[in-house]
Amino acid sequence: MLRTLASATRDRLLRQARSLTSTALASSYFNSPAAKQSDPRRFCVVGSGPAGMYAADRLLAAFGDDAKVDVIEKLPTPFGLVRSGVAPDHAGTKSVVNRFDNILKDPRVEYLGNVSFGEHVGLDDLFARYSATVLCYGAEGDKKLNVPGEDMPGSHSAREFVGWYNGDPRCVEDLDGPIKAALTGAHGGDTAVIFGLGNVAVDCARMLLRSPAHLAATDVCEHALEALRTSSVRRVVMVGRRGVAQAAFSPKELRELLNLPGVTVTVDPTELTLAPEDEADLAAQRPRRRAYEAIVKSIESPPAGTEKDKDGTDGGARELVLKFLRSPAEFTPNEDDGVSVGAVTLGVNKLEGASGSRRAVPTGDTERLDRVSLVLRSVGYKGAPAKGVKAGFPFDLERGVVPNVAGRVMEKMGGYPTHVTGMYVAGWLKRGPYGIIGTNLQCAEETVGSIAEDAAAGRLRRPDYRFKGKGVRALVESRGVKVVDAEGWARIDAAERAAGEAIGKPREKMVSVDEMVALGGRD
Ligand code: FAD
Ligand code: NAP
Repeated sequence: MLRTLASATRDRLLRQARSLTSTALASSYFNSPAAKQSDPRRFCVVGSGPAGMYAADRLLAAFGDDAKVDVIEKLPTPFGLVRSGVAPDHAGTKSVVNRFDNILKDPRVEYLGNVSFGEHVGLDDLFARYSATVLCYGAEGDKKLNVPGEDMPGSHSAREFVGWYNGDPRCVEDLDGPIKAALTGAHGGDTAVIFGLGNVAVDCARMLLRSPAHLAATDVCEHALEALRTSSVRRVVMVGRRGVAQAAFSPKELRELLNLPGVTVTVDPTELTLAPEDEADLAAQRPRRRAYEAIVKSIESPPAGTEKDKDGTDGGARELVLKFLRSPAEFTPNEDDGVSVGAVTLGVNKLEGASGSRRAVPTGDTERLDRVSLVLRSVGYKGAPAKGVKAGFPFDLERGVVPNVAGRVMEKMGGYPTHVTGMYVAGWLKRGPYGIIGTNLQCAEETVGSIAEDAAAGRLRRPDYRFKGKGVRALVESRGVKVVDAEGWARIDAAERAAGEAIGKPREKMVSVDEMVALGGRD
């Protein structure tokens, strides 16, 4: 009886929290006199990726001249995965940074780069200074495959590989040598195997297969371009545990990969056989049908001709192999050094279950891929608690997200979910590592809608008057942190553009935090 009452109360609280946060209510608040008449509000946004920048933008829209928003970013440079994730050959996608730059230039916004939540500022520092904080620090870990040998040299997460070619300082510093060794087939091997069939896997495959001459005109980092020029990878095998009807990639991204000049596409036609449940999956999701049709077309009528690289290297004779219904079973070392990856054993799967919930089941058969010098595990990013944040702050380790209802951070109090006053979350940290840049706009809108409603109901925090409405800048500087502010970022940005222009690229990224801070930091 008691249990039933407790769960009924919990459900009621959850329903109440949800009902508080409809987008319609939020957007009507943005334009209401209440929003215009509210007290000055000081907000903090942690993380300057798309979720953080959209959250800052929506806070300005909701609270108008009363808003003051500090954006704290761990790296000296802003914009998260737009800078360190989006592929170099997708320049159009990156143009969203123009909008984000304008947000940082707003006089109501203060950018505090090189400041790490958990390390340089803690929860109590934020609670004492801000009416509300929106955590937007993304997903900085990886899902594991949990197979023997997955951590051997030559096997990397896609996150590490992407960070390496996009100049994420942490990936470049730790992994430049190992990734170069794998790319150049230092221990024999001309094959890269990518696990996962999402858009990140497609990005990685394209970067490995695309002509370096084409990449030379993008903002790919020079260290990566040099390595790709000398890469011995000639075959990229993309491996999915389920079938073609369940693959996660989008048709546009897939078509771009299938149509790369000089690349032959190979798919075993038997792997394209569709059961009625798979047909139903394709019928239910048009993008998946279009992706399926693109694959069928690419093997029935492959695009003709190969591209001669403008730098004189022949970009031809590269192969993309798509493999469905295969899971990694074991990674084994090569015979040369006995340590780095040389072969991968795959378990063959069949699909079971109804349309919409098809799952891979091992058949017991295996097959082996040899000549492997690089493995990329592209099976999803995973969020983790920010390092140094005090124990007990809510975090769902299984899903890698901060538990929330419509962006309100929830903790268990006496067994009941309760909103941590003044704490909100948006982006991949709120939803998990899914969705494109634009998804984070709707996500941030929902969260700021919750903040606006809590403001109207007097449920935000009251910052400690002794800090006189100031944010954390003075505090972190007193702790010895050299802050990179918006002007500092503008200096880094200008230097990167100038360095790029000198070699025919839109930008050459700085990859050393020390150098960035030396140029952009304030004494
Ligand atoms: P992030 O972009 O990861 O931003 C999180 C920010 O928080 C980072 O700047 C990080 O440095 C900072 N941070 C982390 N920890 C702390 C801390 N302790 N203190 C302070 N700051 C911290 N979408 C598209 O629409 N088009 C694409 O082409 C595209 N390509 C993609 C390519 C890749 C490889 C990936 C992984 C994703 C891609 N996406 C693309 C999806 C898009 O990038 C995400 O939807 C989006 O970046 C998620 O935004 P976010 O703000 O939640 O996280
Ligand atoms: P994703 O789209 O979720 O794809 C993950 C892939 O990994 C799926 O194929 C999944 O297969 C597979 N997988 C998961 N766990 C596995 C396991 N244990 N063993 C084998 N395979 C496993 O993730 P993502 O590619 O990392 O992309 C993240 C988000 O960023 C997506 O929303 C994506 O669209 C976006 N993004 C967009 C672009 C773009 O617009 N150009 C570019 C890059 C990324 P199952 O389906 O079987 O689980």
